[in-house]
Amino acid sequence: MARHCGAMATRIQARLNTVCSSRWLQDWHLSLGLSGARLTHAGAAERLQREYDAVVIGAGHNGLVAAAYLQQAGVRTAVLEKRHVLGGAAVTEEIVPGFKFSRASYLLSLLRPQIYAELELQRHGLRVLPRDPYSFTPLLEDRSPPRSLLLGHNMAQNQQQIAQFSQKDAQAYPEYEAFMGGMVSALDPLLDSPPVDTAALGKGSLLQQLRNLRALWPLLQAAGHQQPAQVQQCSSHTTSPPPGLALGQQLPRYYEVLTAPISKILDQWFESEPLKATLATDAVIGAMTSPHTPGSGYVLLHHVMGELEGRRGAWGYVAGGMGALSQAIAHAATARGAHIFAEKAVCHVLLGRDGRAQGVALQDGTEVRSKLVLSNASPQITFLELIPQKQLPKDFVQRIRQVDTRSPVTKINVLHTSQLREHPPPASGIHRGYPRTPLQQAHDRALHPLSAGPRTGPTGLPRCVPLHPVHPVRAGRWSVLGRAGQKCVCRQGDILTPPDLERIFGLPGGNIFHGGMSLDQLYFARPAPSYSGYRSPIPGLYLCGSGAHPGGGVMGAAGRNAAQVALKDFRSL
Ligand SMILES: Cc1cc2nc3c(=O)[nH]c(=O)nc-3n(C[C@H](O)[C@H](O)[C@H](O)COP(=O)(O)OP(=O)(O)OC[C@H]3O[C@@H](n4cnc5c(N)ncnc54)[C@H](O)[C@@H]3O)c2cc1C
Repeated sequence: MARHCGAMATRIQARLNTVCSSRWLQDWHLSLGLSGARLTHAGAAERLQREYDAVVIGAGHNGLVAAAYLQQAGVRTAVLEKRHVLGGAAVTEEIVPGFKFSRASYLLSLLRPQIYAELELQRHGLRVLPRDPYSFTPLLEDRSPPRSLLLGHNMAQNQQQIAQFSQKDAQAYPEYEAFMGGMVSALDPLLDSPPVDTAALGKGSLLQQLRNLRALWPLLQAAGHQQPAQVQQCSSHTTSPPPGLALGQQLPRYYEVLTAPISKILDQWFESEPLKATLATDAVIGAMTSPHTPGSGYVLLHHVMGELEGRRGAWGYVAGGMGALSQAIAHAATARGAHIFAEKAVCHVLLGRDGRAQGVALQDGTEVRSKLVLSNASPQITFLELIPQKQLPKDFVQRIRQVDTRSPVTKINVLHTSQLREHPPPASGIHRGYPRTPLQQAHDRALHPLSAGPRTGPTGLPRCVPLHPVHPVRAGRWSVLGRAGQKCVCRQGDILTPPDLERIFGLPGGNIFHGGMSLDQLYFARPAPSYSGYRSPIPGLYLCGSGAHPGGGVMGAAGRNAAQVALKDFRSL
């Protein structure tokens, strides 16, 4: 049977190669496996047409999600990606011959649960392996054997682990988890709809005004006026708030978590440094912040607001690497009829005399007309590179220029020698926790490289850390330093510093979220005040990537929400 399938696949591949010169289709076919149905859909995208209802710039996971929803609603959609692979920062690449890596993002949790179900991602090949245990914090101490803190999904085992350092913290941990879980449930409704358009409130006919008021509903839900059914739903998670607890009563405490430094919040709950340091790591991921920075509480929340198989805050590895998720979304989109192309770099958005977006021009000179243009590229690429500046309001351009895109992230992909020997499935990454003070020190050094102290890592390990690498002294010249100050040479893998992340993936400043997730750059203000609802100053042009609400991570929410807004406008054209 396997041989028969193999022969059939070879025949189909040969046929495809003769009818289609697109590298995309060949890659696509090669990565698909043997499903005839999928090949049929992939075949449909053989030729780029000159006109679609909607064009999506960029095939990051958000662009693919947007395309799937638009096409599902009957809007003929094409996705144009400049790289040779789909997925943006959610991609699998063979960076060492014979070995595939999740080259940028590597863990899944944040993807909105509706997207799994509505796009039938499992049917389209998505398989996620839970990450349990999920964090390991080794301690360097003068005792033998040295201790470590291992946390996973079993609460009793977590409590035992924490009790090594503090009985009191072990007791408090379940309550802390429930508190955070309750907060995440409260914020949940805000993630799946555009931020309230305050300018629209009070405008138009009475009917229109009443309709606009509906936009306040998610905000009211978050503030605590939840339907009992929803509270019930939230409480099915192990970390849900106690039944009957009105979320609204917690608002002052939730407000504090959102705005305070995470160190302050963790000090209120716990006394042991290893636990606080482990939890604080989530508050600085991707952010140029330290645990003592106000607003770092929100960053932590952003990293625990996902779920996997109904378990709040759980993370997992995608079988086949993160690119397999993007492939599953792309399958869902093409199965609905969308056309997806790689190696199609958009160089500008076409504008009509009335200033409306009318399609895009590609770098090879091709023009593709469309009524809607959705951009999955960052706000900086979209508005500062693809649109003539004079077509945009000055204050809007200034806001986009002001977005803080500083990045502390360096991704190191290495092939472990055991992988060379044993060929296990693709590995995804190493997660290390740090004592809190070194987290702060790393942040300080990243900000003030010239006044940095000794450059050995806090744990004595080589200082090839994924967070807060040594800041570039001159733009474009980065060095990641080893323990003795020697440059880390990576023969079996690659080291991606912020300039690399910008050059390869188009992430502005190397920022993994298309712009910091600080409080001044969220909700109403993402990417700019008055333009947080996916629409832009250019009618017909929408932002559908991480630079829009609710921000970065492999969430799909921006793609899904933007598609809904664009669809509404399309229907009234
Ligand atoms: C090193 C690293 C580790 C991370 N780890 C995780 C993790 O473990 N879990 C997690 O949830 N998140 C993680 N993230 C964050 C997450 O990957 C990103 O926030 C998310 O993937 C962004 O998705 P997006 O679709 O909004 O945009 P992107 O993935 O940035 O996609 C934008 C796409 O647009 C394309 N494009 C840009 N300009 C043009 C143009 N002119 N023409 C055509 N195409 C264009 C780009 O090539 C790209 O494919 C990580 C990110 C990085 C970099």
